[in-house]
Amino acid sequence: MGNTNTALQTQAIYERVAQLNANEPEFLQAVKEFLDTVYPAVEENEAYQKLNILDRILEPEQLVQFRVPWVDDAGNVQVNRGYRVHFNSAIGPYKGGLRFHPTVTASVVKFLGFEQVFKNALTGLPIGGGKGGANFDPKGKSDMEIMRFCQSFMSELYRHIGENTDVPAGDINVGGREIGFLFGQYKRLKHSNDAGVLTGKGLTYGGSLARTEATGYGLVYLTDEMLKDKGLSFKDATVVVSGSGNVAIYAIQKAQELGAKVVACSDSTGYIYDAEGIDVSVLQDCKEVKRARLTEYVAQRPQAVYSEGSVWDIDIDYTVALPSATQNEIDLTLAKKLVSHGVKAVAEGANMPTSLEGVAYFQENGVLFAPAKAANAGGVATSALEMSQNSQRLSWTFEEVDEKLKEIMQDIYKTISDTAKEYGKEDDLVTGANIAGFKKVADAMVSQGIV
Ligand code: GLU
Repeated sequence: MGNTNTALQTQAIYERVAQLNANEPEFLQAVKEFLDTVYPAVEENEAYQKLNILDRILEPEQLVQFRVPWVDDAGNVQVNRGYRVHFNSAIGPYKGGLRFHPTVTASVVKFLGFEQVFKNALTGLPIGGGKGGANFDPKGKSDMEIMRFCQSFMSELYRHIGENTDVPAGDINVGGREIGFLFGQYKRLKHSNDAGVLTGKGLTYGGSLARTEATGYGLVYLTDEMLKDKGLSFKDATVVVSGSGNVAIYAIQKAQELGAKVVACSDSTGYIYDAEGIDVSVLQDCKEVKRARLTEYVAQRPQAVYSEGSVWDIDIDYTVALPSATQNEIDLTLAKKLVSHGVKAVAEGANMPTSLEGVAYFQENGVLFAPAKAANAGGVATSALEMSQNSQRLSWTFEEVDEKLKEIMQDIYKTISDTAKEYGKEDDLVTGANIAGFKKVADAMVSQGIV
């Protein structure tokens, strides 16, 4: 089959998927980027074509949607919608986080689950891809409301998960507190202490050291490899991060450890600019202890400035951007702005924070670009290390886990940049990541027959 032929066939596949999932823009965005980059790997492999791997890989194995009723502190009955997608189990149990956010829809859960399949493959560990969540907004809710919501959510989810079937973890607004409530309810329903059914657990009941830090640290380890490869470095670089959650906080900490000055980060309403570099302990106190807005940071650090709007509108020159808030936060207009401020490297801490047009603009303008499925894989990789420790009933030291994480991120960078070169797309790490992740999953699917 000729190259153009395959390109045409993937276009036809895209059109079919677009029709079938007509009102799911986020899912279709992830599919489009994938199909546009992987076809050379399909073109050279007869088994992939004959066994129709592309059509099968685009269809989730299962998708469950369920009602989550709960009672708020005022005694009112509330209802939310819960989801779990089992996208692909070719290389291991479904694995991926849970997101609680008003924007969660079937489309969002499916885009996240789809990307998770290839991200998890890139870690080199035996984990398939899944994702879930609910359109629940935890903002302003009391601890007891969060607990009741988590218990109700798990009262349905428990049927669909298990340490050898599907292992959820955190994502936006699901951290240690929520995982604790979810695990407590799972254990109660199953009457069995299956530590390996969830990751991101607390350290007193099976959690792994360094899991909390892993996504942010991993993002910086991979970015550091990418910078070094091109003769650049974090040392003395000015860095802007978006978000101020788990990924952002530990990315800021690690980048500063490597000598960078991280001057800005954001929340959903605005951003802070701290010319001396963000004080991570103040940031942690605001976000992790007080669960407050970034205005609280400025109250504690008067030299910092708070502005409303997107952090990507910031009017300063900087070298490295680490978008770690949410999907599609950088569109074409903002991508142009980053380039005009001298940005040399963008690495995605969030999932799909850059639109397709934004990615294309970065690549056309020589900006080093590391896509989420490689750049933020450190979180799920460390989740897999947590699963290993749970099944051995052992706990590794922080240093052991951190060392393994660093090696995994270095390996991922090497794999995706070698794959990009192999396919004649030097420096196109989007193609490198998609093809490398895809081939691993596709080869396992070929071996397992039509299932
Ligand atoms: N939610 C994270 C991600 O996007 C982590 C998932 C996990 O640890 O299972 O990869």
